[in-house]
Amino acid sequence: MVWDNLYASAFERVRGNISNAGRVLLAYNTNIDAVKYLERKDLEKRVESAGKDEVLRYADGLPKRIENIPQLLGSILWSIKRGKAAELFVESCSTRFYMRQWGWDELRMGGQVGIMANLLGGVYGVPVIAHVPQLSGLQASLFKDGPIYVPKVESGKLKLVHPKEFAGDEENCIHHIYEFPRGFTVFDLEAPRENRFIGSADDYNSNVYVRPEFRERFEEIVESVELAIISGLQALTKENYREPLEIVEEHLKVLNEKGIPAHLEFAFTPDETVRKAILDLLGKFWSVGLNEVELASVMEVMGEKGLAEKLLSHDPVDPVAVTEAMLKLAEKTGVKRIHFHTYGYYLALTDYKGEFVRDALLFSALAAAAKAKLGDVSSIDDIVKAMDVPVNEKVKAVEDALSKEYGMKDGIAEVNSYQLAFVPTKIVAKPKSTVGIGDTISSSAFVGEFALRRGKTF
Ligand code: ADP
Repeated sequence: MVWDNLYASAFERVRGNISNAGRVLLAYNTNIDAVKYLERKDLEKRVESAGKDEVLRYADGLPKRIENIPQLLGSILWSIKRGKAAELFVESCSTRFYMRQWGWDELRMGGQVGIMANLLGGVYGVPVIAHVPQLSGLQASLFKDGPIYVPKVESGKLKLVHPKEFAGDEENCIHHIYEFPRGFTVFDLEAPRENRFIGSADDYNSNVYVRPEFRERFEEIVESVELAIISGLQALTKENYREPLEIVEEHLKVLNEKGIPAHLEFAFTPDETVRKAILDLLGKFWSVGLNEVELASVMEVMGEKGLAEKLLSHDPVDPVAVTEAMLKLAEKTGVKRIHFHTYGYYLALTDYKGEFVRDALLFSALAAAAKAKLGDVSSIDDIVKAMDVPVNEKVKAVEDALSKEYGMKDGIAEVNSYQLAFVPTKIVAKPKSTVGIGDTISSSAFVGEFALRRGKTF
């Protein structure tokens, strides 16, 4: 009951103030997701003609990258057999050609920048400037209408245009997503749960390629910007991370000099060297967003193995362990805001206080539930359609633990010198789509918070 009222008033306040958020810079990863729903007969035929024995070798052990067709098909089987997601870089041109010929059932906007640009610009009407590493006609067609801009240099002058007006004839960065449902069978393999294998035919996002406009004219690009969200660093490896992270650091310097708060959307970063390097940069960000697996992986590189294990051993995730981990992270790096999300609840640890932090979390939880319920959200008014989704009952124990440990009331407590904000989320029982839902949560909460801070009526 209390939460229903808090949800309703938070939504009204954010909707009423969203135009105050200011222009948002989004960098760096945008790509095309080409989704193929696998079919048994088709896949079996392809495996036979590529050489079944050769293919099955890779179903037992993934290659490092994909260099031929048997490796591609074997990696798909590897995912099916285990019901596990995997993503590999596709190096060979002939395999990329094979994947294009195989085709897809659906094209979707991919990459955190692309997804957030369509949400913030296309749905909320918040102006965004997006970094799109390669802007092909196909990539441009996936952008929604609305105040979404990319920089374009014409006769030495920098202009901001909608991606559809960019008229670039650049490469396609395609992530081929091979999806299968639970119980999907191929030969004698059966998928224990639904999942996907991704083969990325993309030389740009995996290296965090930064466009010349962003390398040479960054100060000009961010002149009118009031917030920034950085993402896409997760694909870097110890071989290629140095140069891109140097550019990110330069960009952060400019943003900080101009007083533009930057949020890092921290996706799972398998390479530990890169994870450590990102951790070293975290103090230059205002804010960071992560889930339990990502927070545990950060604790691991901070030498907090016990805490990392604790984060992954309870369902729902133990909120006291999360708070301890967030405190360690905030104290080590100096980042001002940590937004944690997990199935059932979100927490935000901030070095400043105010109900607007919690209200922005509530708005983002409603946005996530609307996305799960409707599949696609077409305007900010659609979000209210998730009001009837019930608040997750299981999370009562989480709220009680926080009240007991920190004296939390109405989702707000003080812990050391920080504010801890908590919200129980609305969970859609049969979601239509959860693709990019983490990006929806983090960007809605960050931008929503600044809309409220800068608005007059919160
Ligand atoms: P992804 O990378 O797929 O976006 P994340 O872990 O970043 O994954 O985000 C998943 C989050 O989405 C969960 O933490 C949870 O809060 C939310 N979520 C997942 N399923 C649902 C659902 N059915 N209804 C509402 N929220 C959901």
